[in-house]
Amino acid sequence: MSTTVTPFQKFVALISFDQENNQIRQQLQDLDSDIKHLNQMLINTEHELTATHDLVKTAQKAVDATELANQELDATEKTKKNQLDQVQDKKEYAALKKEITYLKEQQHNNELILVQAWTKLETAKQAFEKQKELLNHKLTEIKTDINAKKAQIIELTKQVNNYELERKAKEIGVPAEWLVKYSIMRTRVQNPVVQVVNGSCMACFYDVTQQDVNALKDNRLVECRGCFRFLYLT
Ligand SMILES: [Zn+2]
Repeated sequence: MSTTVTPFQKFVALISFDQENNQIRQQLQDLDSDIKHLNQMLINTEHELTATHDLVKTAQKAVDATELANQELDATEKTKKNQLDQVQDKKEYAALKKEITYLKEQQHNNELILVQAWTKLETAKQAFEKQKELLNHKLTEIKTDINAKKAQIIELTKQVNNYELERKAKEIGVPAEWLVKYSIMRTRVQNPVVQVVNGSCMACFYDVTQQDVNALKDNRLVECRGCFRFLYLT
């Protein structure tokens, strides 16, 4: 029994080799876009965390402002009380008294505002801590994912780099005319070689003549009369 590999079989092997390689290139493209997507997720997650932290900062500012207002009211009240001790005029005394009463009211209101501001700050801090833990976990996951994909890219790139060398060897024994036709077809379509199923080309569904089917059975190179792709039978 002969084990000679016919030019047609070599050609088919070359084509499957190219298709495997196209798949690798496609995988590389997919990995690239995955990484872009993951990087965007990283940025979004970091923004999310910053936004929650900003809420804490805003709440802290409100507390600080209210505390400052309290201090100012206290200082004013102290000044007024000192003035009260020294005032001789009855009318002036009454006016100062009134001012001090008003200051006390303001202090009281401010105390209430401060309690609210503190509550708000505590709530914001708790929300931030909770989210920080959650988002940091998410960030770690995303980074791990990115690193895994980068490692895959390095591996696949090595394979693609070897491709040209290996391909040269696969071309040996394939008629030059076929190689030329095939290289032209490859620049035009993703699937330059298609299967014949139920007597039709699987790319354009053009009927394949009996004569062409016989030629295919004979391991000869046949192009579809509809789309000019190379045909093969299984
Ligand atoms: Zn066709």
